Order: sequence, then structure tokens, then C-alpha cells
Amino acid sequence: MIRLSAITPSGQPTLGNYLGALRTWAREGTHEDVYFISDLHAMTSSHNPQRLRSMTREQLAVLVASGIDPASVCVQSDLIRELGALNWVLECTCTYGEAARMIQFKEKSLGRESVRLSLLTYPVLMAADILLYDADRVPVGDDQRQHLELTRNLAQRFNSRFGETFVVPEAVIPPPGRGDRIMDLQEPQKKMSKSSASQQGTIGLFDSPAIIERKIKRAVTDTETEVRYDPKTKPGVSNLLEILAASAGGDPRALAEGYANYGSLKADVAAALIEKLRPVQERYRELAGDPAATAGILGKGAAKAESVAAVTLERARTAIGLLPR
Ligand code: ATP
Ligand code: MG
Repeated sequence: MIRLSAITPSGQPTLGNYLGALRTWAREGTHEDVYFISDLHAMTSSHNPQRLRSMTREQLAVLVASGIDPASVCVQSDLIRELGALNWVLECTCTYGEAARMIQFKEKSLGRESVRLSLLTYPVLMAADILLYDADRVPVGDDQRQHLELTRNLAQRFNSRFGETFVVPEAVIPPPGRGDRIMDLQEPQKKMSKSSASQQGTIGLFDSPAIIERKIKRAVTDTETEVRYDPKTKPGVSNLLEILAASAGGDPRALAEGYANYGSLKADVAAALIEKLRPVQERYRELAGDPAATAGILGKGAAKAESVAAVTLERARTAIGLLPR
């Protein structure tokens, strides 16, 4: 079974990325799985080349520092040639209507013609990512569910028109639970995101203990005083309880009973978080100071990715009617 997931180098990785994704990839992943940095997806809106490069390197080190098997880590553009080719093949399988119906495109483009064309077509590139690796399980959050459905449709359509070529991937919808959706500390109705403009609501994976303490202390709560887990009416406090549960263990509802006021809850959340992130930050610092080690991981990841992708791409080009090479 091959699982595939990605993280976009669109900002410093957050506590949400770590609790909701990276630590699960580290715990459940095998060397067969693929965890990649989606640098090509980061180019669908205005971007800075130098920043993209440095964030891609940084995220590679973050993945390994989080405990993910280095043998399953790579960068999306390792396969830029193979992806370019399969992307075209899949664009010839996808209709304009299907791409234009994607909710994320509608939300992000707001009807503006000045958006990059790649914002419209990136779900097709995402399909190429998944299909090139023969991935059979793709964990998806709410925002990617429709894109994965498109991938499945394209794979099934291609297979039925041109013969069995692609593995049709299954979406894995994570069961609701701790850490799957960490909310912004300043706007707890909104998910914490690394591309968010507000730094105050977001805990970065590299934040120092002093900064973590300050951000948790200033986290928005409500005008009541009772510590209770109720995400609908008390999103701020419930988010703090979720962070505590995900960092120190336990159940957010049960944990609430141990606190008489918000101040003591916040102090414990900050302490637990600092402990949880400490080993990741230490490993990250070691790796960041050893460029030869990261270059080695990058090189191996690229070679492994290329060997898998070459086989899938050959199957697709033969099936769709291109001359053999
Ligand atoms: P962006 O703002 O660029 O979309 P992001 O923080 O949403 O960044 P992604 O690169 O889109 O991060 O997602 C990487 C992984 O992190 C995905 O598996 C996603 O489900 C997970 N993830 C992102 N944000 C959160 C969050 N707030 N809580 C839990 N998991 C999250
Ligand atoms: Mg996201």
C-alpha cells in the first residue's frame, strides 16, 4: 500500500501542520509511502523564487526532523519532466468544465482573469502527482476532497478508454479527533494556516518558548470564565483544550474538568507545547547545520521518485497512442 501526502512551501510550517499531518506521517508511514514538498503548487499564485527555494529546503528538513522516514521524502519538482508529460496527458482527459467547477478555484480566483492559469489547472497536476506514484491511499482534508474525486474520475476515465493504466486512489478521510484541525489562536473559527497573514494567531514550528508562551497567553477565548469543551460556542477555549490533548495526551472534554480558569489552562498548554516541539526543533537545528545530509536525502529521494515515475509514464504514453521511444 502506497500512501501519498504533500505539504506546500507557502510559509513556515505551523503547529497545525505538525499535529494534523507531520507527526501522523512519521508515526504511520512506511518507506513505501511518498511525502513530498509541493513546490510546483506553491507557484500557482505570486511567488518569490529565492523564498521558494529556501522554504523548500527548510520543509525537507522539517519533515525529517518530525521523524518521517527520509527514504519516503522527496520534492515535487524532482519529477518536473515526468509531471509535465503526464499533466498534458491528463489535461487531454479532463474537460474545461470539470476544472472550472473546482470550488477552490472559484474561491481563490473570484472571477478575476488575472489569476495564473495554473490556479485552474493545478488539480490536474495534483492528479498527475498521485497517479505517477501509483498511490492507493491519499489522506485528504475537506479542502482537497473535490480534487481527489477529480483524480479518481480522470484515472477511471483514462483506464476505461485506453486500457488499465492507473491505480485508482482511495481518499482517506481522517476520523474527527485530536489535532486534525488546529484553529487560529486569534480567529478560532478559522483553521491555523502557514500562509496566514497574522503571525499572532499562528504557532510556527520554530517559535521559541518565550514566543509560544506569549501567543498562547494572548489567544482569544470568550467572555465567560468556565473552562468547557464546546467547539461551537467556545471555539477559542476548545482549541486550547485540543492543543493540550494533542500535546500531552488525554481527552479534551475530560481535561477541561481539571481547570478553574483560563489562565491556568493557558499556562499548561504553553508548557506542554514547548515540550512537544523541543525535540523536533533540536533535530531541525542539527539538520539545518548539515547541508550535506539534506543534499543526500534530496538526491536519494529524487532517484527513487524517478524510477517509479518512469514506469507509470511509459504505460500512459503507450496507452494514449504516442509512438514508442
Ligand atoms: P496553506 O495556507 O499554504 O494552505 P496549510 O497550513 O493549510 O498551508 P498545507 O500545505 O495546505 O498547509 O497542508 C499540509 C498538511 O497539513 C495537510 O495534510 C493538511 O491537512 C495539514 N494541516 C494544515 N493545516 C492544519 C491545521 N490547522 N490543523 C491540522 N492539520 C492541518
Ligand atoms: Mg492548506
